[in-house]
Amino acid sequence: MYGTRMRPGVERSIRHSPPATNDGDRELCLDRWRELPRRQVPPWPDPAEVAAVCATLGKMPPIVTPYEVDELRHRLAEVCEGRAFLLQGGDCAETFTGNTESHLLGTTRTLLQMAMAITYGGSVPVVKVARLAGQYGKPRSSATDSLGLPAYRGDIINARHPAESARAADPQRMIDAYANSAVAMNLIRAYPPDDLTDLEELYDDTYDLIRASPAGARYQVISGEIDRARGFVRAWGPSERHALRESKVYCSHEALVLEYDRALTRINDGRAYALSGHFLWVGERTRQLDHAHVDFVARIANPIGVKLGPAASPHAAIELCERLNPENLPGRLTLISRMGNRQVRDVFPAIVDKVTAAGAKVVWQCDPMHGNTEQSSHGFKTRRLDRVVDELLGYFDVHRSLGTHPGGVHVELTGENVTECLDGIRGVEDQHLPDRYETACDPRLNMRQSLELALLVAEILRG
Ligand code: PEP
Ligand code: MN
Repeated sequence: MYGTRMRPGVERSIRHSPPATNDGDRELCLDRWRELPRRQVPPWPDPAEVAAVCATLGKMPPIVTPYEVDELRHRLAEVCEGRAFLLQGGDCAETFTGNTESHLLGTTRTLLQMAMAITYGGSVPVVKVARLAGQYGKPRSSATDSLGLPAYRGDIINARHPAESARAADPQRMIDAYANSAVAMNLIRAYPPDDLTDLEELYDDTYDLIRASPAGARYQVISGEIDRARGFVRAWGPSERHALRESKVYCSHEALVLEYDRALTRINDGRAYALSGHFLWVGERTRQLDHAHVDFVARIANPIGVKLGPAASPHAAIELCERLNPENLPGRLTLISRMGNRQVRDVFPAIVDKVTAAGAKVVWQCDPMHGNTEQSSHGFKTRRLDRVVDELLGYFDVHRSLGTHPGGVHVELTGENVTECLDGIRGVEDQHLPDRYETACDPRLNMRQSLELALLVAEILRG
C-alpha cells in the first residue's frame, strides 16, 4: 500500500514566513471541517463572537514556529525508526489559575528527570513533549456533571466553578488560553538547563528521594546502573555529553477546540502549520475518520497523534494511517494506545501486527492512564499505579513479541506532591486522596510516582 517515497530533508533554517493569504487557506481546505459532522462541539452561544475572537487570534503571533514543528517531526522520525524514545506528559487539563511559574517548572523538571532516568538506564535519547502551553480543552462523556450543571469543558471554553453562569461557554476564553499558552511557552523555552551540571543537580534533587523510597529498593539494580552510567558520562569527553545536554521540551495539546487551532494555523512554504502547539493529538472520542477533527489534522504539517481505545479495530487503525499519513512519513503520526491493563494483551497485538504488515510508519506510544480510571470508595476519580504499571508491561510485552519498537509513553503527571493516583503502601492510599486532590479533570501521577514509572521504563528498555 505504501510506496518508498523519499522523506524530504528537514528544513532547519528559520524561514521568513509569508503572511497567510486567504488563497492559501482556501487551496488547503483548512475550513472543510466546518461542513463535517463533529463531536464535542463547544456550546458557544454566539457564532458572531466566535468569529470575531478567531479573527483576532488570526492576526496574533503564533505560540510556536514552523521550524520547531519540523524539528520535532524529524526527532519523532528517530523514534519511529527505533533510535529514540518519546516521553510525553503533563496535566490532564491545564488551568489559567494553575498556570504559575512553579507549576510549569514542576512539570518540566519532572519530565527532564524522567527523561534522564530513561536516557541513562535505557541508553536511548528521549524526545520530551509536555502537555502544557495549550492543554485547555477537555472532551466530556456527558454534557452535564453530577450536579446536573453543564459539564466543565476546560478553561478554554467555560469555568470549573459549579454554577450555571460559570459553565456558560465564553469565546473570549480562547484569547485567555492564547495568552496563557504564550507565557507558558516563553518560560518552558527559557528554562530547560543546557548545562550538564544543572541537569545533574536536577537529577540529584530527587534521586536520593527515590532511593530512600520502597520504589528505590525495587529498582536498586537499575539505580546502581544509572549511577555507573552517570560516572561514565561525566568521565567522558564533552561531545559525548551532548545528547544529555539536549533538553529541549516541546509542547502539545489535544486538537479539540478546532476554532482555536484553526485560528492559529499559518501557511509556511505552502504548507499549513497549526502553530498553537508543536504536537497535536486527536482524542478517543473524536477520531471518526470522516468527521471534523480528523479532517483538520489531516491538513496540517505538524506531527500528530491519535488515541486508540480498546474498541479500536486494526482496520480502523490502518484507515487512520492512510488518511493522516498518506505519504507514510516517519514521525508524522503517533498512535497512542490506551487500552486499559485488562485489555492491552488481548486487543493491542492485532493492531500492531496489522499496522506493521501494512507497512505504515507510526510511532507507537502507550498512554497507560486513560484506560485505567476508576472511582475510589469515597467517590474520587482515581487510578491505581499497579494497573498503570501493568498496562505498560503489557504494552512492552506486545512489542517485544512482535519485534516492533515500543516508541514511547504518554502520562498525566505533575511535579507537585499531589494525592490523586493510588499506589498502596508506597504512599497514597484510599484515605489520602482528599489530602491534595487538585486536578481540574483526571488524576495525575505525582513526582515520585512519575519517577518510579520512568525507572520501570528504563529497566525494561535495558532488557
Ligand atoms: C486525555 O488525554 O486527557 C484524554 C481525554 O484522553 P482520551 O481521548 O484518550 O480519553
Ligand atoms: Mn485526561
